[in-house]
Amino acid sequence: MTKDFRKIIIVFISLFVLFAAAVTVSEIVNYNHILRTYPQSGQIAVPDTVQVTMPTQAAFNFQKSKVTTWLIRLFLSFAVPAFFIFSKLSIHIRNWAAGRARRWISIIILYFIVYSVIETLIYLPLDIYTGFFRMHQYGLSNQTFVQWLTDTIKNFIVNTVLTGAIIWVPFLIIKKSPKRWWLYIALISIPYLFIVSYIQPVVIDPIFNHYKPVEDSQLALKIEDLLHKTPIGDCQVYQVDKSKETNQMNAYMTGVFNTKRIVLWDTTINYLDTDEVLGVTAHEMGHYLMGHVWKSIVFGGLGSILILYLIYRLMGYILRKAKGRLGFGKVSDIAAFPLIILLINMMMFFTAPITNAYSRSMETEADRFELELTRNNFATATATVKLHQQSLTMPEPGSVYMLWTYDHPTFKSRVDFANNYRPWENGQPLKYQKFIKEGK
Ligand SMILES: [Zn+2]
Repeated sequence: MTKDFRKIIIVFISLFVLFAAAVTVSEIVNYNHILRTYPQSGQIAVPDTVQVTMPTQAAFNFQKSKVTTWLIRLFLSFAVPAFFIFSKLSIHIRNWAAGRARRWISIIILYFIVYSVIETLIYLPLDIYTGFFRMHQYGLSNQTFVQWLTDTIKNFIVNTVLTGAIIWVPFLIIKKSPKRWWLYIALISIPYLFIVSYIQPVVIDPIFNHYKPVEDSQLALKIEDLLHKTPIGDCQVYQVDKSKETNQMNAYMTGVFNTKRIVLWDTTINYLDTDEVLGVTAHEMGHYLMGHVWKSIVFGGLGSILILYLIYRLMGYILRKAKGRLGFGKVSDIAAFPLIILLINMMMFFTAPITNAYSRSMETEADRFELELTRNNFATATATVKLHQQSLTMPEPGSVYMLWTYDHPTFKSRVDFANNYRPWENGQPLKYQKFIKEGK
């Protein structure tokens, strides 16, 4: 075991170093590209066209820091579960839980709680740095440490309770159907994610923030007008009190069926002008009309059939090879949990470029809809610039980091698209005419 174990560690670390080197080189190439090509200060050369200017030194530094901590997290996502397996910690937790609880379900839940606490403690220093200290260092947060810690603890409790309550279900399926569990778990994940998406906006989100209809009555009326230009009907538009935590801006769409809603951070309403807020809202309407939430759930569920099948095959292979030396011989043994997590994290690493590309294509379509509905290229472009500059986002990152982490197109490409997409100016048909009433 120790020999095999050493070999696995050496191969893994070598591959990781190669990947980190590729990330670093592509970041340096990008850094130089930006220094060479971006203008120092914004001049509007053509009316109605917005230019993306040289990022500030703080944005360059923030990018370096983000890439570094992302690589550390990526490394830990493999190293932490591996540590649970090879240190036999997983076996000890399972034995401890089995000595304390009678029922099979209770053992699984107890194991999961202990695992989550240890894992959270391992990540805590990094979480404090990225979630609190770095945010203050770059002036992006106005939370006190106590507020931050309270949110973090709340988050931990909500996640552990929600996951702990259902974690035994996949293990029961694995136990009952050792050869087909990968299919059944993937299939039940679809209705499960629908339920979570349905209750999240009304049950979970209010634990953290206060949601209310858009306060500014003038703005609310204009949003209402915009909604009436689409077949959306009964969609709620909310504002959420994010200004108590951050000065960054954001908006998103969440919920399914009748909990579907568009949420604007109050910072977005405070820092953007009316046309820009309308643009951001139109983008979210695009997500709504194109059914991006439910499509992601269905495609995600179908994609997970393949991923879980690969995990099923790999688990079988590893357990056969290990011949009991890992301390667990079955996938349904809760002690195998870290191995499942390790394999899931590996699969997520390999599939991230695909899922991100899918997400980026949905974002481009929402941008396209925003432009077709508002026909306000200028406000779309200026809102994009403000949203990203405020959060110190680079106009474009290195290509490897982009492929692995960008679920939105780069800020530069979104501004270029906003400047240039004007099919209505030369009589070309609109892609989303079917979603726009009265042709405008
Ligand atoms: Zn979007």
